[in-house]
Amino acid sequence: MKFKSLEDLLHQELKDLYSAETQLLKVLPQMARAAYHESLRTGFEQHLNQTKDHIERLQQAASTLGIKLSGHKCKAMHGLIEESEDFLHEQASPAVRDAGLIASAQRIEHYEIAGYGTARSLAELLGHDEVVRLLEDTLDEEKETDTLLTEIAESGINIEAAASAD
Ligand code: FE
Ligand code: FE
Repeated sequence: MKFKSLEDLLHQELKDLYSAETQLLKVLPQMARAAYHESLRTGFEQHLNQTKDHIERLQQAASTLGIKLSGHKCKAMHGLIEESEDFLHEQASPAVRDAGLIASAQRIEHYEIAGYGTARSLAELLGHDEVVRLLEDTLDEEKETDTLLTEIAESGINIEAAASAD
């Protein structure tokens, strides 16, 4: 039996997050390059740097728990990235492209927020205080990024996109 305990489930959740983050690390530079507005490009670049920290924190959590994170692929992140790439291959006016990029990025952030929230709760229940701290630091940054993306969209890009001609 692969999942006998909540401990096993926590390990699986961490592996999934690790796979998700490493996939995201590869695609964020591409999203930054595709962004037309400076604020969005900077936002993606900043989140790229944070993502490196997220991966490092997961590695720290894994070493605390004495587990390996490799050997699992997060299919959901793969799908989210594929959708984002499909959109980037379409013709779009600059502001509409940025609005679509934000839509993709927020789906990704929400997926991560769900994963980190669950893993944090499991780690808390299992008494892994150091792991809780690591996961919470990342969870806060994912939430901040989500909020920032909403602000970037609502402060101008969506309005500009709404005004762009066919
Ligand atoms: Fe992340
Ligand atoms: Fe996943």
